[in-house]
Amino acid sequence: MNPSDIRPRCVERFLRYVQFDTQSREDSPTYPSTEKQLVLLRALAEELRGLGLADAAIDEHGYVMATIPATSTKPGVPTIGLIAHVDTSPEMPGAGVKPIIHPNYDGRDLVLPDDPTAVLRLAENPHLEEQRGNDIITASGTTLLGADNKAGVAEIVTAAEYLLAHPEIRHGAIRIGFTPDEEVGAGTRHFDVAKFGARYAYTLDGETRGEIEMESFSADTLILTFVGFNTHPGYAQGKLVNSIKVAADFISRLPKNRLSPETTAGHEGYVHPYVVQASVERTLVKVLIRDFTTAELKMKEGFVAELARSTVADWPGATVEVRVEESYRNMKEVLDLHPQVVENAREAVRRAGLTVRERPIRGGTDGSRLSFMGLPTPNVFAGEHNFHSRLEWVSAQDMEKAVEVVVNLVAIWEERA
Ligand SMILES: [Zn+2]
Repeated sequence: MNPSDIRPRCVERFLRYVQFDTQSREDSPTYPSTEKQLVLLRALAEELRGLGLADAAIDEHGYVMATIPATSTKPGVPTIGLIAHVDTSPEMPGAGVKPIIHPNYDGRDLVLPDDPTAVLRLAENPHLEEQRGNDIITASGTTLLGADNKAGVAEIVTAAEYLLAHPEIRHGAIRIGFTPDEEVGAGTRHFDVAKFGARYAYTLDGETRGEIEMESFSADTLILTFVGFNTHPGYAQGKLVNSIKVAADFISRLPKNRLSPETTAGHEGYVHPYVVQASVERTLVKVLIRDFTTAELKMKEGFVAELARSTVADWPGATVEVRVEESYRNMKEVLDLHPQVVENAREAVRRAGLTVRERPIRGGTDGSRLSFMGLPTPNVFAGEHNFHSRLEWVSAQDMEKAVEVVVNLVAIWEERA
């Protein structure tokens, strides 16, 4: 396998994988959330065995794990993990995906044939500017593409194939992990970090070429229960306390022009009410709290809790209970303790001739959770764009670069051990 084989092999795999419907589902009683994810996961285990990864297997939860054996005898080379998820977002249809290659992109509008209102325009997608001359892959207009994260899956399998064909590239043991249910926040629920056995890992689930993501939100949910008193409204004078009005009063006091998802960007956090379950007696309000440091997160929680208490103070007879549910923490807190993880990724990107780009993720990734489970895991670009959209796209050349970055990365870990 020559370097020139990387792109066609990766594209062939990608086109194959996106035709599997692997949509995950919220609130499913099973794991994985949908049976159909297992179809691709089983096929991947078999494909990896076919490449020569003898231990490739799928476990009872659907996780596929496999080992690329070390080619280096140097002591102390850490085992590196490469992780991608197979599921696609429940927000957009993922069945019947018809991938289309638009060769030699020149800035033209790409009209998707199954829905002519679905048009990928340069003006609305500035990242297309650096794709001139490249081959852009989209869906046909009625479904998502599934580049998130099947681009990452195809890149990891192709990197494995390339490394197996090139034993002269020195590297330590590499562990591959393919996971279900990332899009419904459950990708790591049963992930066995000890069994995976990697010291450090990378998810290949990022956007623009050259990008490394090592900062995510720290996230909690604040659950406020406003309690009033219900009685027959015809005879309620002086007795009834309507928790719906108390909760509405609280919501109206939340900041409007700041601290909100719709008014913040970059490193700013927010507080965001997103669920209300109301009755006269009890009204529950769920508020997402987001920030990049745990200290700031706690300040925002204190601010919201205090706002709820001061609201209730104006409503005699009403009370409020405040509960915090922890969601995830900024992986930077862990990655800062292992600076070589990000540093080696930067070097791998530079050696592929790309500019390193870093930006905070205004969300969480499986890497945020894995980092706090003892496996430091930043996110590296896979070339995915317009996540969860029918205008999702990836370029063949970016996928090729991502494979190159992975190959560089495992060699750098060996070199620097
Ligand atoms: Zn993803």
